[in-house]
Parts: sequence; structure tokens; C-alpha cells
Amino acid sequence: MAGSNSVRVAVLPGDGIGTEVTQATLAVLEKLAKRHGIGIATETLPAGAFHYRETGEALPESSFAAAKAADAILLGAMGWPGIRYSDGTEIGPQLDLRFRLGLYAGVRPVKAIPGVPVALADPRARDIDLVILRESTEGLFFSRGRGTVTEDMAEETLRITRQVTEKLSRFAFRLAERRAARRGRRGVVTLVDKANVFRAFAFMRGVFDEVAAGFPGVEARHHYVDAMALDLLRRPWEFDVLPTENMFGDILSDLGAGLVGGMGFSPSADIGDEHAVFQPAHGTAPDIAGQGIANPTAMLLSAAMMLDWLAARGAGQGYGDAALELEGAVDAAFAAGLRTADIGGRDGTAAVAQAVAERIGA
Ligand code: ATP
Ligand code: MG
Repeated sequence: MAGSNSVRVAVLPGDGIGTEVTQATLAVLEKLAKRHGIGIATETLPAGAFHYRETGEALPESSFAAAKAADAILLGAMGWPGIRYSDGTEIGPQLDLRFRLGLYAGVRPVKAIPGVPVALADPRARDIDLVILRESTEGLFFSRGRGTVTEDMAEETLRITRQVTEKLSRFAFRLAERRAARRGRRGVVTLVDKANVFRAFAFMRGVFDEVAAGFPGVEARHHYVDAMALDLLRRPWEFDVLPTENMFGDILSDLGAGLVGGMGFSPSADIGDEHAVFQPAHGTAPDIAGQGIANPTAMLLSAAMMLDWLAARGAGQGYGDAALELEGAVDAAFAAGLRTADIGGRDGTAAVAQAVAERIGA
């Protein structure tokens, strides 16, 4: 990949509005690629609930292999009411990708977009710019599908390993360093845990502190998860990078999304040592699917995260420039009055894509 000035992106649009926001995003990426002289070769792959209903496979092995071989994976959303695996659980190939590709770092930025209403009246809420880092392969999800259930009891396992905690912590400190350089202020990494009650979290803290010692330029802190839920409502503008356990991250990232306009504005990335999946934090939204009103912003911002990650992996400066321009174009479009249905406006999926595309190269 390095220096070739072309990357291969596996695209899994999935179901419902996943396919709609993906289509809108690919059109914008095409314009970005032309403008920055970068190659983005996309390959669209079948997967998801409807594919499962037709074929009995939610993530065909051929799709998995092609996604694994690509430089990056862009995913819409998957799942549908009434379509379930034979054991009754929701169709969720995204989870399989996380576990099979070792995508331990769930990156969930929470950032106020100019012009988009925030949930808090305090004017400082406009400065919200934090990243929740959800560990995505262990924690309380470790025994997913393998917990013990008897007549009288159900039991799941919470697992925290040194190896994954070290990786997640290093990821957090490196991210804080890059953000500090961009924002011109010292980075702060706050581990969110429950070390006062669970030995597993005291262990996690110990490993985190060891890694922190290697990053003297970044401030390291700890916060209990219950206090964090409160402080994300009271003073979210004070936080920077928040690594945390899988289940805590799952919950706090929805809270974070609610602060800055909702799921339609919340991008995410699941990153491992070799592979990464970029997808909006929202699901397939069956209630609005097929109407052309889904907000593609979360998907557009996820695509910007993908370009930034590809640049950091050596794809070339053009990808980093394209990421910055895409983020800037989204901000500019909303600052200029773009309003999607989820925030009470009338602009549909195609209108957002067009407004953003118009600001690329402008
Ligand atoms: P999942 O189980 O995949 O997390 P979910 O049941 O939590 O899905 P979502 O599909 O994420 O639900 O969204 C919940 C609701 O929020 C949707 O039904 C829809 O009304 C709204 N919503 C989500 N994403 C968007 C979007 N991009 N644009 C507009 N509205 C959205
Ligand atoms: Mg959800």
C-alpha cells in the first residue's frame, strides 16, 4: 500500500439505511479522490440480514476473505427486525469482524458540529470534542453467546487481559499525542473503570498506569464509570481521550452521541493491529429506511476517519489532506444551514451528500 497512491476499500453496505448512507458516501469519496489525486478502489461485498435470509449466511466466507485482504473496510449497518440467527440472536456480522480481525480499539469521537443542536444549554457544550475508546474484543463481551444459563442462574464472564489492555492504552496515548498536536494543547487520557469494586478493573488500572509511564507528555487520569456518566452530562467539554471496557464503552458512546445531535452524527472505527472497520455508530433504522431521509453524516465522518487512518499507515499525505477536507466540508455545510430530518430539518440523504460534495475543492 505505502507509496502506491491507491488503496483498496472493501465496502459492506449491509441493510436498511446502511445501504443508503453508503451510496451517498461513495459519491463524496469519488469526488475527494479526484481532487486529491488519490486512488480509492472500492469493492462492494454482500453481507447482512437480508443476505442471511436469502442464503443462510450473514457474512459469506468470500466476503470475509475479500474484506480481510483489503486495505480498509467501510461498513454501513446490518440487522433487521424479524431476521435472526437460528439461536434467536440478532444478525451481527460486525461483531464477527471485530473478533475475527482482532479489532480491539473501538474509536467513537464525540464532537459538536457547528450549527447542529447539542443537548446541553451551557455554551461550552459547543466545544465538546472527546473520543471514547471502547475495548471491543473482551471485557463483558468475552463470553458472548457462550455464557452459562441454567433454570436458576445465568452467568457471563468479564475478562481483562494484559495484552489487550496494553494495546488499548498505547493506542489511547498515541491518539492523545496526535490530537494534542492538532489542537495545540496537552493531551489527557482518562481510563474509565470500576476499580473500586472489581479486581478485573484494578488490574486494568495497573496495566494502564504502566503504559502511561512511557508517555510523560500526556496526562493520565482515572475515573469511575458511574461518575463519568454524570460528568459527561455536567462537563463533557473537559474530556479528551477516554479508554474503557467493552460494555462501559457501548453505553457511554450512545450517551456521547446523544450529546451532539444523535446517532446520525456519530462516526466510529474498530481498529486492530492490521485491519480496521469504519462504520456509523447507528443501526439500520427500519422505521425510516427506503425514504431517502437518513442522515449520512455519521457515515461521511467515518469515511474521513478511514482516510486519516490510511494516511497514518503510510498511504500518503493525499489521504490525510482528503480526510481534513471532508471533515471541513461537513462542518461548513451544517454551519451554512443544512438540516437533516433527525434534527428537525428537511434535507435528505442525497441533499447532504450534494451539499458536502459542493464544498470539496471550493
Ligand atoms: P442497532 O441495534 O443496530 O444499534 P438500534 O435499534 O439501536 O440499532 P438505530 O438503527 O441505531 O437503532 O437507530 C435508532 C433510531 O434512530 C432509528 O430507528 C432512527 O429513527 C434513528 N436514526 C438512526 N440513525 C439515523 C440516521 N443516520 N439518520 C436519521 N435517523 C437515524
Ligand atoms: Mg443501538
